[in-house]
Amino acid sequence: MNPYGFVRLSGGGPVREAVRFHDRFEGVSGRISCKLTTRTALFVPKYREGSADRARMHETLEMCRDHTGRPMVPGTSLKGAIRAVVEAASNSCFTLPNRLAYERQTVSYGLPREFQSCEDVGALCAACRLFGMLNRGKVFSGNVSVQDAVAQSGYQTRQFTLAVLSTPKPRHRYFYSTKPEDPIPQIRGRKFYYHRPQGPRMRAQKDGQNKTVEAVLPGAFFTFEVEYNNLAEAGLSLLLFGLVLWDDTCHKVGMGKPIGMGSAKIEVTALTALDRQLRYRQWGGGWREPLTDKALTDFLSARVDGYRNGMTDNLQDLHRILRWDENAPDVINYPDQQWFKSNPKTPLEGAQPDPRVRCRDGGLYERPIPAFG
Ligand SMILES: [Zn+2]
Repeated sequence: MNPYGFVRLSGGGPVREAVRFHDRFEGVSGRISCKLTTRTALFVPKYREGSADRARMHETLEMCRDHTGRPMVPGTSLKGAIRAVVEAASNSCFTLPNRLAYERQTVSYGLPREFQSCEDVGALCAACRLFGMLNRGKVFSGNVSVQDAVAQSGYQTRQFTLAVLSTPKPRHRYFYSTKPEDPIPQIRGRKFYYHRPQGPRMRAQKDGQNKTVEAVLPGAFFTFEVEYNNLAEAGLSLLLFGLVLWDDTCHKVGMGKPIGMGSAKIEVTALTALDRQLRYRQWGGGWREPLTDKALTDFLSARVDGYRNGMTDNLQDLHRILRWDENAPDVINYPDQQWFKSNPKTPLEGAQPDPRVRCRDGGLYERPIPAFG
């Protein structure tokens, strides 16, 4: 099975609104405390200058760490992962270009006009209202800030010599579009990678085609905070859903998503609301008692259940692709060159294994292999 699927674009495009409230105290503000638990090896490279030039030799990359030496996932990286699911869940605009580069060429896919990137700060889709937008010099910095996630004690790291991270092949129109013969075929939707509970695909040989990385092992946990400022209630609900998703799904964070890395579960452990009117009167004041345990569960459920139970194409696709199943068989891999040669026009749905595939424990995989959307 191909390592990715597409979340369909649903309906007639995002509802766009201005972000500002008439009254500065109208929106909700506060802080969400989160815990991220690694389910497969997770790796974010330490920042190095000029790394692009060294691609020809085998590289050994270190994990990103904070000033005390603990593994860290930068807030920007987390924000990207959260924004991607928020965009898909809310049918927001498409922030990625629809002209895709590969191997020094580009290929264009059509995007319905309504889904093109927001251009006007006075009319933003739900994701841009939360996380901001940048389009041809117009900037809105967003009302949500995601802090760095730092590993808590008990984590372990290990070196993995990874499988070759093959570059995506967006020229394979039969995967990326349902109308591949059109002059500018329409994109199928938003691309997300399936989880691979078996963890990273590896390769014994070390050369310029692959890398060795120091990754954080499954079972480690990180903590981080998300601050939100002056959101509409609906914006807070969407943000919370972007963090917790469904009970049986995980996010993908960091490098190596196509080869099984970066699966992580995010949970909200506390939510502290900020009363802006109180804060205005008393500097440093205004923080309410944090919500935890049952009060937190109730608060979350009132806000995210609408998404969790949603029947729209986009929510169904997202749930299917991001589902984490510890016992899922090892069927995630790119078809090889030979397959592409023999099946030049097979759509994405055709690149599936025998449905009677075996589990690791030898039994047959009972749940049907989910169909592609
Ligand atoms: Zn937008």
